[in-house]
Amino acid sequence: MQQTSVVIVGTGFAGLGMAIRLKQAGFDDFVILEQAADLGGTWRDNHYPGAACDIESHLYSFSLHTFSAAFSGCSQIMSRRLT
Ligand SMILES: Cc1cc2nc3c(=O)[nH]c(=O)nc-3n(C[C@H](O)[C@H](O)[C@H](O)COP(=O)(O)OP(=O)(O)OC[C@H]3O[C@@H](n4cnc5c(N)ncnc54)[C@H](O)[C@@H]3O)c2cc1C
Repeated sequence: MQQTSVVIVGTGFAGLGMAIRLKQAGFDDFVILEQAADLGGTWRDNHYPGAACDIESHLYSFSLHTFSAAFSGCSQIMSRRLT
């Protein structure tokens, strides 16, 4: 059985953000567990027409990406995932 120091549950923005910050800190001894077949959390599951955030989407970016709109749609937010 694999031994690891940190287990992150879920690949929503919280889980992905934790993983990014751990890697930025030089810490690679972690695993991320996800019950679904893909990354993205609630943004993976909510993709109805017009789905978009109502706060400025740069707050979702972890300072890693830029967005073409201040209040981005679901597809652009999902395209800025870790993958
Ligand atoms: C269309 C839309 C618009 C939004 N607009 C805004 C906004 O303007 N402002 C704002 O603040 N918020 C907004 N939100 C909400 C915000 O995006 C979410 O609250 C946030 O993304 C939640 O992230 P999270 O990582 O905490 O949880 P989630 O995204 O729910 O991710 C949790 C992940 O954990 C996984 N998981 C759960 N239990 C287990 C388990 N036991 N084992 C393995 N995996 C597990 C789930 O499958 C999921 O992938 C919006 C959401 C949507 C869908």
